[in-house]
Amino acid sequence: MKTLTIGVLALQGAVSEHLAQLAQLNVRGVAVKRIEQLAELDGIILPGGESTTIGKLMRQYGFIEALQQFAQTKAIFGTCAGMILLAKQIVGGEQPHLALMDITVQRNAFGRQVASFETDLTVMGLAKTVPAVFIRAPYIVETGKDVEVLASFAGHPVLARQGRLLACSFHPELTKDVEVLKLFLALC
Ligand code: GLN
Repeated sequence: MKTLTIGVLALQGAVSEHLAQLAQLNVRGVAVKRIEQLAELDGIILPGGESTTIGKLMRQYGFIEALQQFAQTKAIFGTCAGMILLAKQIVGGEQPHLALMDITVQRNAFGRQVASFETDLTVMGLAKTVPAVFIRAPYIVETGKDVEVLASFAGHPVLARQGRLLACSFHPELTKDVEVLKLFLALC
């Protein structure tokens, strides 16, 4: 099998931790700063950070259209802020985003900084629970019919898939567990 090349959008946010997890799985990881780099990728990760900042930079550098195009043939994984950027709708807010995945998300849904926490999640299709770090995390408030919810926390969907799109509320890259990343690589 050919070695996968996976990008991590590197405009703002938790980039290096994703690259480290990719390296751990012997996948070639690329920090993506320009749209020209998308051509060599099998998939891309949109990291956590500040979705308003990342979205504005995406618009400024042409990533909105380029990634909408990319999604027609390639896989995208949005973590935390990245989930917000993938969502069709964001509750109460207009901010630049990709609007690719048929979900509605609520930002900072568990409360502000004080509500950051770690928990173990049961994920559909995985035998063991996975540790999940939530930092001012969003959750999904509505899903379209093609969206499959893979994990929930406190009754709210926090990991979901639609075709080649995967989105999670938490930061899988901040733990030692690579199972959620493997779910994404299977889509690439
Ligand atoms: N609260 C951030 C936002 O709304 C997301 C936080 C994160 O990515 N850890 O963009």
